[in-house]
Amino acid sequence: MAEVVVIGGGVVGLAIAYELAGNGVSVRILEQGDFGREASWAGAGMLPPGNPEGAATSHAKLRAESHRLWPLWSRQLLETTGIDNGFRECGGIAIDFGDETGGQGDEIAAWNAEGVQVESLSSDRMAELEPALNPDVSSAYRLPQLCQVRNPRHLRALVAGCAARGVEMNTGSPVVGFERKGERIVAARTPDSLHNADAFCVAAGAWSSRLMDVIGISMAIEPIRGQIVLLKTQPLPFRHIIEIGPRYLVPRPDGRILIGSTEERAGFNKVNTAAGVTGLLQLATRVVPCLKDATVERCWSGLRPSSADGLPYLDRVPETANLFIAAGHFRSGLQMSPATATVMRELILGEESSISCEPFACTR
Ligand SMILES: Cc1cc2nc3c(=O)[nH]c(=O)nc-3n(C[C@H](O)[C@H](O)[C@H](O)COP(=O)(O)OP(=O)(O)OC[C@H]3O[C@@H](n4cnc5c(N)ncnc54)[C@H](O)[C@@H]3O)c2cc1C
Repeated sequence: MAEVVVIGGGVVGLAIAYELAGNGVSVRILEQGDFGREASWAGAGMLPPGNPEGAATSHAKLRAESHRLWPLWSRQLLETTGIDNGFRECGGIAIDFGDETGGQGDEIAAWNAEGVQVESLSSDRMAELEPALNPDVSSAYRLPQLCQVRNPRHLRALVAGCAARGVEMNTGSPVVGFERKGERIVAARTPDSLHNADAFCVAAGAWSSRLMDVIGISMAIEPIRGQIVLLKTQPLPFRHIIEIGPRYLVPRPDGRILIGSTEERAGFNKVNTAAGVTGLLQLATRVVPCLKDATVERCWSGLRPSSADGLPYLDRVPETANLFIAAGHFRSGLQMSPATATVMRELILGEESSISCEPFACTR
């Protein structure tokens, strides 16, 4: 019998399983489909910077601690599995055309206050760094420590890393209910089996509230669709990740460029729409005009798990003694997965927590 059953094999569930197994815990993951094929696969792999010493809130600490852990996890996964997840510090430039956001002054001040490297860019400096960018921007700043990862590769590395640490890994295993004895959950139920354990952790992304409904707990996590268009061009016309408010262009070293993303309430419908794709292509060619000649390679969409206040739930589920939840990371689940794994290991094993989880409580 596993000591911990993790439900959901996206980046959050896999990271928790990897962390627990690395601390001597026997773990089983139950995944309804295949590992890492939902939001975690669809994401753009942007990893914002952070400074653990200067981060002011628990949410900022989760980002900052993850920033510290990403190079360590990437190196360890490479050594254990031979899979290079493509983690690298490419830097990012946030631009504003004067019509997208309310100005960048507050953002620059916030990065400065946290002690994260940030550089305000004059138009000359921007042209020097990225000559292919549209010069009509009204302001821009650079985050040299912004990183990126090839998330599909990272997921493959995590799956291999979990297997190397002895995690039992079940695909095609949707959890449809739980067996309870009072406040204790004794088993997770899949259509043809019961999976007993000492503790259970729901990491089912946008599907988590459906699973909570099964045990009569109402939790507001809804799917927010994000569409992405993938372009290909050689040579790459720019090197930094370019952010324009909530939208972005992410250049990969192999000449691919991800254009993202939309934010849509469309239930669990993962299609691409004409409006979504058109809007992203218009954005791309406005920001980097020479992309008008790039090849459109493919497009896809994914379902971000979104809570009402944008913060994840990292907690023991109310009215249960041994059911935990790690879900609702919205736009930051890839970036925040390493520190989420630390926090959940501390919660599940009853260790002192390194980050206060009050803002992430189910009952907040
Ligand atoms: C277009 C887009 C761009 C993004 N870009 C970024 C980015 O650049 N940086 C970043 O940090 N984040 C980004 N995100 C957000 C990030 O992808 C998510 O926050 C993160 O992937 C959530 O991970 P998860 O493991 O909670 O969810 P998921 O990856 O959705 O995984 C949940 C898993 O649970 C399984 N599951 C559900 N119900 C059950 C059940 N009953 N039984 C068993 N298994 C179940 C699902 O099949 C799924 O595999 C982006 C998201 C999108 C859509």
